[in-house]
Amino acid sequence: MKTGEGEIITTRLEDLLNWARASSLFPMSFGLACCAIEMMATYASHYDLDRFGVIPRTSPRQSDVLIVSGTVTFKMADRIRRIYEQMPEPRYVISMGSCANCGGPYWEHGYHVVKGVDRIIPVDVYVPGCPPRPEALVGAILELQKKILQEKPLSDLKKSTENTASD
Ligand code: SF4
Repeated sequence: MKTGEGEIITTRLEDLLNWARASSLFPMSFGLACCAIEMMATYASHYDLDRFGVIPRTSPRQSDVLIVSGTVTFKMADRIRRIYEQMPEPRYVISMGSCANCGGPYWEHGYHVVKGVDRIIPVDVYVPGCPPRPEALVGAILELQKKILQEKPLSDLKKSTENTASD
């Protein structure tokens, strides 16, 4: 993005779209276990995720980020997948904490725990720790923003339109 003389900014449409999307991430209001407490602390005033444009929504249809914060039991796996499928594209997933990443302390004997949420939905950013501190979740949001800024939404749209036309 270049700032010219006066008050004119020149940029590419794709960069502008990416900047708008990266600056307005709306996570689904959703938590699973103790990691969710750290996530709530990150939303609260001390860490203040609002300053990054991160504002939780109460409907998957208005959300573009799913923060999986906690233990993914087999009982919850279907619900998590359903929430993910109800979110509109483009959608992103942050796996927060050891439980969501790989089963955490339940890895060996937790017969009821899915050994990683990436076995049921794709994950964009992993946050290590048990539990991760709020700073780690803020770091994951910044990583996700970087990823979104590298995307090419218009080129992808063109490709998918061409594929649909050739089918
Ligand atoms: S990773 Fe640790 S803090 Fe997070 S949900 Fe699992 S047991 Fe709880």
